[in-house]
Amino acid sequence: MTKKFTSDIVIGLEIHAELATDTKLFCSCPTHGSDEPNTRTCPVCLGHPGSKPVLNEKALKYALKLCLALGCKISPDLIFSRKSYFYPDMAKNYQISQYEIPLGEKGKLSLKAGKSVGITRVHMEEDPAALVHTGSIQKSPFVLVDYNRSGDPLVEIVTEPELTSPEEARDFMKQLITVLNYLGIFDISRCVIKADANISIKESGYTRAEIKNITGFKEIERALNFEVQRQKHDVAEGKKIVHETRAWDSQKGMTFSLRQKEVEEEYGYIIDPDLVRIEITKDLIEEAKAEMPELAQDKILKYVNKYRIKKEDAEVIAQERLLAELFEKVASEIDPVLAAKWLRRELVRVLNYNKKEMHELEIDESHIIDLLRLVESKKITDTTGQKLMEKLVEKPFDVRKYIEKEGLAVVADKGALEKFCKEAIDENPKAVEDFKSGNEKSIQFLIGQVMRKTKGTAAPKEVNEILKKLLK
Ligand SMILES: [Zn+2]
Repeated sequence: MTKKFTSDIVIGLEIHAELATDTKLFCSCPTHGSDEPNTRTCPVCLGHPGSKPVLNEKALKYALKLCLALGCKISPDLIFSRKSYFYPDMAKNYQISQYEIPLGEKGKLSLKAGKSVGITRVHMEEDPAALVHTGSIQKSPFVLVDYNRSGDPLVEIVTEPELTSPEEARDFMKQLITVLNYLGIFDISRCVIKADANISIKESGYTRAEIKNITGFKEIERALNFEVQRQKHDVAEGKKIVHETRAWDSQKGMTFSLRQKEVEEEYGYIIDPDLVRIEITKDLIEEAKAEMPELAQDKILKYVNKYRIKKEDAEVIAQERLLAELFEKVASEIDPVLAAKWLRRELVRVLNYNKKEMHELEIDESHIIDLLRLVESKKITDTTGQKLMEKLVEKPFDVRKYIEKEGLAVVADKGALEKFCKEAIDENPKAVEDFKSGNEKSIQFLIGQVMRKTKGTAAPKEVNEILKKLLK
């Protein structure tokens, strides 16, 4: 490699993401459903001789959308190759992948801080079967093969070696998952996303180690942090860093050597004669473009510039497609700044507390709009609003009727409020005495008593003023 690096750490990623189609890449077997081993199979995905693969058009459309979202140059033709290797997870001894000409090339993806990371290529391929061991790989006396997964559609995304820290690698994965979610081509509840990472450090003269099969963005940061420390430690001890493939053990929190790489693997790629070349027409690209939603990065700009909400709030909201969609509906009726504050702070807080995801939320925009109208017009206090949000996340109900029934509207009537204040004063002579003898803080106790009497529907500031006037 002749490329000159300037950073202390150099990381490149190869990410495999499963596309959320209902059927496999080259046959009509379902990609999900029964987990009974080897039930979702046919001669094609079992690799029987003579069986012929037929491309799933939906998978192509999905991969095409990803290429477009990442700003890739699209290949004029879709060409599949056979990657030959001998291993029990692939009965036909080759994997159908793309090699010579990937579907997309030369794209980019921005990190949260704005740094743009180059995408070398995006290509489609089939997933191999799963190898099932009893207990650990080392101790298992035999291996079982489950072909349910064999032939599932994958996209592989290869980055340039432009990431300079484990945190950046984590952020890259996170941004990529956001794009996949927005495009509706990845289902986080059932699709798998895995990364192989190349990592090297300046101290070793950038000798790369490749870490295989890291699942999820939190794991990638952990694995790479471990690997940076290991490489630095070995160099400091005078050990030579070797070009090798390593595995990540997430339970032990460490990587270990699988095999050294004296030469690059030779897979004997040939163009697959069973799959016809498919022209990626302008019409197909336009069709895919028309179906693509506005993406998170565009939404952040729109929220900041058009809705005038804080960048930090915009980022949190745009990260999650369903939250962004809810926000836009609410912001068409309610002050966007207030809507952003309540969705980002309150709704997200309550969801986290209940360990709920946005897609599990039963309420819709009408509930939030009803609630925020009451907050906006000061008919209920912020405290009441927060409590209602908690209840709404549990189960939807009619907010306005509930407020009426429970008497939670703000006590707008000064007379009523004064009555509660007088009661609090009469009932708490000790606090009154303390206040009169100079302990200003004891008024807080009286305010608390009034808030209780009004079920939190009074504005504390107003109560404070009335109490002070009465105590003079
Ligand atoms: Zn099949």
